[in-house]
Amino acid sequence: MSDIIVEKSSVELPENLIFGKILTPHVFEMDYSGKDGQWINPAIKELKNLELSPAAMVFHYGQAIFEGLKAYKRVDGKIGLFRPEKNFERLNRSARRMCIPEFDEEMVLNALKELIKLDQDWIPTKPGYSLYIRPLVFGMDPLLGVKPSQDYKFIIMLSPVGPYYPEGFKPVPILATDKYVRAVRDGVGDCKTAGNYAASLYAQVEAKKQGFTQVLFLDAIEKKYVEEVGTMNFFVHFKDEVATAKLNGSILPGITRLSVLQILKEWNYNVSERNISIDEIFEAHENGNLVELFGTGTAAVISSISKLKYRDNEILFDQEEPGELGMRLYKELSDIQYGVKEDTRNWITYVE
Ligand SMILES: *Cc1c(COP(=O)(O)O)cnc(C)c1O
Repeated sequence: MSDIIVEKSSVELPENLIFGKILTPHVFEMDYSGKDGQWINPAIKELKNLELSPAAMVFHYGQAIFEGLKAYKRVDGKIGLFRPEKNFERLNRSARRMCIPEFDEEMVLNALKELIKLDQDWIPTKPGYSLYIRPLVFGMDPLLGVKPSQDYKFIIMLSPVGPYYPEGFKPVPILATDKYVRAVRDGVGDCKTAGNYAASLYAQVEAKKQGFTQVLFLDAIEKKYVEEVGTMNFFVHFKDEVATAKLNGSILPGITRLSVLQILKEWNYNVSERNISIDEIFEAHENGNLVELFGTGTAAVISSISKLKYRDNEILFDQEEPGELGMRLYKELSDIQYGVKEDTRNWITYVE
């Protein structure tokens, strides 16, 4: 690792941080050399624009994978990461599926800690604020033939962020669609790979036009079962059960999802991972068996859902007040992340 000496200047962050707009001054970078068959030149560097051939494979064939996690300034003054080993494990899973060479997870986690230490003045301290961490790996070969790239770039960039929804923990309206699908089983829906997000944009834009914040995608084969929201896993709180879609190969295995499942089991909820049809949700609502809906993901942690629309049917919840369980989960997770509550599950990795 190159040791660059950087003058510490006091960092002034704008009041309104737009998610992912500001990058800190440093990145971690390494390269994969197909010729050497290994990752080389790991280094922390100053952030600058990349120079790539217009033929670079990533632009044409989308061989790109990424992650999203956060560092928190905790109430004890320490910096904590939430289950970061899970993110690097998942990045290597995505790598295998996308024919990208795997990397040493421990080495990269240590490099990330060094990077965060260097740019620690950029971690906002206000409640709900954090440092978003974006690892990215992509194929670089300047070659127009379709095949796996030989050479790759690995970059970790950091971005100070505020709460995902500027309004705070306010419930959001969601549109379920059977017009477009996000991913199909045995495809790449369970990888954090660029094309999945490109594939979801059109449906997102249409939903926005109709006043919805996000899209709930159904399974691509029967268009019957709920899968997930653009960047969040989806939970249904029935009267006697809390359910989420089971990991069937087209759903992203969220780390927030995994953590929420564990917490709910500890809280003695009847938890299940199973097929949930969209019709079942509307029927439960009619029968008075539906309590609340929420999404889970690193960016917003928990998103309470105010409204679900599907075809001509709508379920309306309290438009202002988030559901009780979603709220309780949000508090539990953020209390662990910010160190308000003891980390009894060993989910926090300290940067020190
Ligand atoms: C990242 C992501 C999630 C949430 O995963 P977390 O690990 O909880 O942040 C859910 N769905 C999709 C499609 C995602 O990209």
